Amino acid sequence: MRVTVIGTGYVGLTTGICLAYIGHEVACADTNESKTQQLRNGNIPIYEFGLPEMLEACGERIRFTTECREAARTADIVILAVGTPAKAEGAPELAYLYAAMETVLDGIAEKSTPTLIVNKSTVPVGTGDKLAAMAASRGISQFVDVASNPEFLRQGSAMSDTLYPERIVAGGSPQAQAILKELYGPLLRQDFSPPALAPRPPGLETVPFYAVDLKSAELGKYAANAFLAMKISFINEMANLCDRVGADVSEIADILGSDSRIGKAFLQAGIGYGGSCFPKDTKALHHIAGTSGYDFKLLSSVIEVNRFQKYVLVGKLRSALGALGGRKVTILGLTFKPETDDMREAPSLPIIEALLAEGACVTAHDPVGLNAAKNLLPAVVTTTTNLDEALQNADAAVLVTEWPIYLNYGGRTYRERMKQPIFVDGRNALPVSDRSWLDYYGVGMRALPSAALSI
Ligand code: NAD
Repeated sequence: MRVTVIGTGYVGLTTGICLAYIGHEVACADTNESKTQQLRNGNIPIYEFGLPEMLEACGERIRFTTECREAARTADIVILAVGTPAKAEGAPELAYLYAAMETVLDGIAEKSTPTLIVNKSTVPVGTGDKLAAMAASRGISQFVDVASNPEFLRQGSAMSDTLYPERIVAGGSPQAQAILKELYGPLLRQDFSPPALAPRPPGLETVPFYAVDLKSAELGKYAANAFLAMKISFINEMANLCDRVGADVSEIADILGSDSRIGKAFLQAGIGYGGSCFPKDTKALHHIAGTSGYDFKLLSSVIEVNRFQKYVLVGKLRSALGALGGRKVTILGLTFKPETDDMREAPSLPIIEALLAEGACVTAHDPVGLNAAKNLLPAVVTTTTNLDEALQNADAAVLVTEWPIYLNYGGRTYRERMKQPIFVDGRNALPVSDRSWLDYYGVGMRALPSAALSI
């Protein structure tokens, strides 16, 4: 099939490359000239495992262009994958989506043959209907069908998640659902040859396909993210309680997670969620509920708990060190999670801001994210990609992003390198065997000194 993907961010680029890999003829179109030029040269502008090798494997089946209108004119299916960032009041910004749609409609108007427009961006309920109305207002609705195909990939494992999804959701007319079933056929049947870098998970034979209406597809995406965010906020509240009563949240998570009705995933206590999706999607869903006359109280609490949770680390540091003025605090990890260079809503930023406000001297290390972080960090923050240097003479280290380099460094090495071995683990991720070398503070972990509880 001839597919055009509009937007070559984390979602659009991964989708385009994977669709080309399974045999489609793909044009990836983006208004960003420098990004498109990099891609034409075979360079991937984001850090995402396996994408460079996959791009190479696609050969002539994929091309990159800034001519979005022409790319839409030459496609049977156009996938919209532009950003929908949060506006100040929490509602998603849809200006990029509508601008992309106008350009796509320009292209379709020129060819006047049927095209399926598939929206992959996360959008409020009713946006698909608005996209269809845009086609109708130009008098070309007979050539345009609009579907919703929400994306569930996770940054850091975007390629695997796209090739081996847990489900594919197709919202729209029966005809649109049938076209999406054909587009994703090799993924649904799992009959493509897996790339060496991302072998097929054992036992995966088929992928479920949910053919639903437009609105349910649009709302289903928000529901999934809100539910996962709720699990995170729940376990973080339990962790805060564990700190006060002397229980251990990892044991609580084991007890909870062994119940198949609950499941083990997303029960890792720590500093809460960040990134481009959970913060914006929880706020957007709350806003959508509000504008529909519904007060989504549970979601308000999920958001509030997450906002507070980052500062738990600062309280623990204060308890361990006393006043933070003049103390060297090393931040381990800046990106919102490991295996990505994405700094959107990274918890590291408010944590650093809070430490600076208390007079700490902050040094930040990240193996991949320094470039993306450089314009977001206050100038007083020292940055380095040399971990030994970052830890030299530190009064405390704070693990914010659980990159393997930090988990493999060794408790003894931390102790030797730092001025004092105070280690605050915002992800409860340091190997247990390393913790005894350090004055270790997790989130909701047993055997904390009582002083660490005054947050
Ligand atoms: P992104 O910001 O990484 O990429 C968006 C791209 O769209 C950019 O390259 C930008 O230049 C391009 N763009 C903007 N306006 C354009 C236009 N008019 N024409 C052509 N290109 C245009 O965004 P992302 O992280 O890939 O997210 C895209 C959508 O997918 C969002 O709605 C997001 O919520 C959703 N989503 C993201 C993830 C994720 O993990 N990042 C997961 C699931 C869903």
